[in-house]
Amino acid sequence: MNEKTPAKPEIAPVDFEYASSREATDLVEIDDSYGLWINGASRSPASKRYFSTINPATEEPLARIAEANERDVDRAVKAARKASDSWRRTPGKERAKYLFRIARMIQERAREFAVLETLDGGKPIKESRDFDIPLVAAYFFYYAGWADKLEYAFPGLKPEPLGVAGQVIPWNFPLLMMSWKVAPALATGNTVVLKPAETTSLTALAFARLTAEAGLPSGVFNVVTGAGPTGASLVAHPGVDKVAFTGSTAVGKAIQRSIAGSPKHLTLELGGKAPHVVFDDAPIDQAIEGVVNGIFFNQGHVCCAGSRLLVQESIADHFVDKLKRRLETLRVGDPLDKNTDVGAINSEAQLDKITELVDVGIEEGAGIYQPACELPDRGYFFKPTLFTGVSQSHRIAQEEIFGPVLSIMTFRTPAEAIEKANNTPYGLSAGVWTTKGSRILWMADRLKAGVVWANTYNKFDPASPFGGYQESGFGREGGKHGLLPYLSGVR
Ligand code: NAP
Ligand code: MG
Repeated sequence: MNEKTPAKPEIAPVDFEYASSREATDLVEIDDSYGLWINGASRSPASKRYFSTINPATEEPLARIAEANERDVDRAVKAARKASDSWRRTPGKERAKYLFRIARMIQERAREFAVLETLDGGKPIKESRDFDIPLVAAYFFYYAGWADKLEYAFPGLKPEPLGVAGQVIPWNFPLLMMSWKVAPALATGNTVVLKPAETTSLTALAFARLTAEAGLPSGVFNVVTGAGPTGASLVAHPGVDKVAFTGSTAVGKAIQRSIAGSPKHLTLELGGKAPHVVFDDAPIDQAIEGVVNGIFFNQGHVCCAGSRLLVQESIADHFVDKLKRRLETLRVGDPLDKNTDVGAINSEAQLDKITELVDVGIEEGAGIYQPACELPDRGYFFKPTLFTGVSQSHRIAQEEIFGPVLSIMTFRTPAEAIEKANNTPYGLSAGVWTTKGSRILWMADRLKAGVVWANTYNKFDPASPFGGYQESGFGREGGKHGLLPYLSGVR
């Protein structure tokens, strides 16, 4: 964590080079227009409607994408239902072969997927290259490994697939969130209808083509593109047995209400407002890098972002000074530039939301600090931002900003750190920096968070479950736990 790069994955990075961002865009082929992916092929939408997806770093349109209405969703669910009988009876070791093949093909096409993810969503290429895409392949490899071992995973029980999974994902890690859902669903013998986010559907559609090339039987994986109403139709469809949702707490609650009383199974991965706690004995330089990674990785569009820094009072001034100096070195701009640390905000709507909450922070009396970096003239960008003098009741200390904005508070004792850290409706993740092992364990016992990172942040591994408490949702993705939401007969 000593390096300047905010994200340092333990998974092998993708090996590729290009000279300029123009050359990078030549690495991918983008069609003018995309249909819905239903029953193994691209189909024109019954809705006859299309929306356009743009590059948020330039505001230029990239492609037109079909918008699925209720009839389209119905077609996709029926295709998934039809494919379900033979897919669930396909022996686990055969299902594994498809998933291993898919994982290898993602690795082979990592350049294309990384550039496409960055073009459509705005994240820095070094993140899509070294974090997202290698992890996507890793999740497919990992769940491929479980496909023929389910009876060993749940000894004495009879694991059975649920049937058709309707999966709705957000725009911050499009392919990665897809892999967290699709890999375990297919490994356990379920078929899938996926609804990607409106602003970032291109990689899911590219993945759909890849599944056909991998020989995955038609109907096992389907994609319905569109906005919120398409997601709502999918969730409401009576042919869906399992709903898996990642997104905002507000939409998650609406989904839970809408399917209450139905036999549908549900998992919700929602928002967060993670505390990042730094004690006075912490290795300061590493902690600075951890805090920077925690909030500026992917422009802060991260559900588990360390968006509240709690720093021990005795080192607070020194720590915040160092943090400000470090912010001056962050490079904000062209996401395709390999040296960019902070890329484009995903959409104009998200930029407006961040701007609005930052204005609220100023009005509430917190002190704002932004480095003197210049932002590109076009595209959606926001300067890395710190707020000092934040009190717990401030909206910027309570609400998820989902942007590159850190709210800083102080504490004196470990008990006070816990009290402040747990003072939100969320409970997704937390970070602790200290050299005392006993203190790490003491904190981990008391922090209300699904994941607690110690002396590191934003580390992911397919074998490790991820998920929340309270308003951050329920159910786990990753690890053996990630199989449970897609199986009956395992409890
Ligand atoms: P969002 O507005 O809730 O959207 C998530 C997905 O749901 C999108 O595909 C969206 O479609 C769709 N959708 C919207 N309204 C719907 C409805 N009524 N019924 C069904 N689907 C509907 O969230 P977002 O702004 O995209 O994503 C940011 C949020 O996701 C943050 O709160 C973040 O913390 C959370 N998140 C959580 C995790 C986790 O693992 N816990 C991971 C990543 C993100 P459109 O966008 O196309 O309109
Ligand atoms: Mg886009």
